[in-house]
Amino acid sequence: MGLDRRFEPGSRVVLLDSRGRRYLITLSAGGTFHSHRGIVEHDRVIGEEDGSLVRTRTGEEMRAFRPTLSEFVLKMPRGAQVVYPKDIGAITVQGDLYPGATVLEAGVGSGALTIGLIRAVGPAGRVVSYEVREEFADTARANVEAFLGPVSNWEIQIGSVYDGVKERGVDRAVLDLPEPWRAVDPVGEALRGGGIFVSYLPTIIQSQRLTQELQSDSRWSSVLTTETLVRAWKIEGTSVRPEHRMVGHTGFITVARRVVPL
Ligand code: SAH
Repeated sequence: MGLDRRFEPGSRVVLLDSRGRRYLITLSAGGTFHSHRGIVEHDRVIGEEDGSLVRTRTGEEMRAFRPTLSEFVLKMPRGAQVVYPKDIGAITVQGDLYPGATVLEAGVGSGALTIGLIRAVGPAGRVVSYEVREEFADTARANVEAFLGPVSNWEIQIGSVYDGVKERGVDRAVLDLPEPWRAVDPVGEALRGGGIFVSYLPTIIQSQRLTQELQSDSRWSSVLTTETLVRAWKIEGTSVRPEHRMVGHTGFITVARRVVPL
């Protein structure tokens, strides 16, 4: 992927200021970036390597980095609510995404989770994403390509996953939409034996309804719902304690395993 390349016009760069604030910019020759810490000339960043120190016009220090997946998804343009990085991590591990896997996804939203899925399956894998709203598909495509560059192993199908999917024998299915119980049947048709179904939902009422649907269908086993809480700690000299603020709630993850029915 050439991640050791030097920054060039068109590169996405995260500028980190001395207060820990992050700004995502796209470099252009002659461009300028304005923040409370001052003005950074893009030309001071172009040609530097990942992690370099750059200075504002008034001499304030900033660090320039290539964005990580987490930094990018928290700063990228969003139409719909994105899946938080901590949950992208949990979904890819609980869904057991692996290099070479074929994944069915719905819906795409702004494409934050999609980026994690495409990365997890790698160039030998494939992701097929269903999305009902064309304008979300366009935002997602722009975000995915802004972060990963052109991708040839990802396709978007415009349409509702509730109406059925044409894919068969997929290894994993990942859903982030409001009524996943309506997708249990079509996704059950698409997943191979031993395949894994993952759904991300904001309320436990939805998770309960989905769980009841999965438990009443002999094609599924090992149905489990979890939530992931991540608490950062402040460690400075002898002051060692949890940070005062944390993200209190995002969503619940429900997984199930596709079995070969009797
Ligand atoms: N995971 C995304 C956010 C998804 S938001 C991210 O991280 O950015 C939920 C998306 O599901 C919306 O874009 C919505 O249009 C889409 N959606 C809702 N119902 C759907 C359906 N039946 N089939 C496909 N997509 C659907």
